[in-house]
Amino acid sequence: MVPYDMPLYRPPSEGANLIIQATLGCSFNRCTFCSMYKSKHYTARPLDAVFADIDAAAADWPDARRVFLADGDALVLPTDDLLRILDKLDAAFPELARVSIYATPINLLRKSVDELAALKARKLTLLYVGLESGSADILRRIHKGATPRSMTEALDKARAANLKVSATVILGLGGRDRWQDHIDGTAALLNQAPVTFLSTLQLTLEDGVVDEFLGSFGEPFDWQDDAGILREQERLIAAIDPPAPVIFRSNHASNCLALAGNLPKDRDRLLATIAAARAGFAGLRPAFMRGL
Ligand code: SF4
Repeated sequence: MVPYDMPLYRPPSEGANLIIQATLGCSFNRCTFCSMYKSKHYTARPLDAVFADIDAAAADWPDARRVFLADGDALVLPTDDLLRILDKLDAAFPELARVSIYATPINLLRKSVDELAALKARKLTLLYVGLESGSADILRRIHKGATPRSMTEALDKARAANLKVSATVILGLGGRDRWQDHIDGTAALLNQAPVTFLSTLQLTLEDGVVDEFLGSFGEPFDWQDDAGILREQERLIAAIDPPAPVIFRSNHASNCLALAGNLPKDRDRLLATIAAARAGFAGLRPAFMRGL
């Protein structure tokens, strides 16, 4: 058994895969909407401890094929350390096919394309990146530590290294007053720096960060209701014009409407589903079934 340091988070799509904690917490930890690692101080775990976890996991699950490196932005680690962890994983799991990791735009900007390509060559093939918004104004208000330009540079680097990026965007993040800027900026970012996978979440704040989020926003925040969220989703899907297919999902538990398809191929179907929901609110997930 791997002795995890709790709380432990991973993307929903990694639910069936092995998780190894290479770091604890998030090295940035300042996004005002995010409560995930408020209880942890960022720590790079000693490599010996990470290797011990890998050995323990290999004893329990020798045929694991996919590994997710936690915690919040393990790509922050020095590239040499990541390479050693990837080599250890490859030696421990003969059937290893893919390693994935949470990454921030800052992490990506601090690595060269050659470093990223070296990680890719050792089976680190998928990065989960929280973009949240492509609006410079919203990014500043939520203290994301990134701008549309820096995020574009970061995504360009990942693409140059042939890494896949699974990006998340948070609907409702601009409230009712700034939703158009939020969505138009996000679509522009995604069109300029396309990703492989795109997921939308719906803004949900845990009690511990509500005051920080509202206080940092700089003005009264008028929450979007479901009708507003659907309008955002509709505008985003209509505006994304990717040069290569994007696998799109809004099946995270926070969403009022679950959607799945490929863009641009399924655009019309997705828009029709949203239109039906907007007309009669058909297919909406009940509020008591939503969560983070
Ligand atoms: S970078 Fe990610 S994990 Fe870290 S505070 Fe921001 S949203 Fe949370």
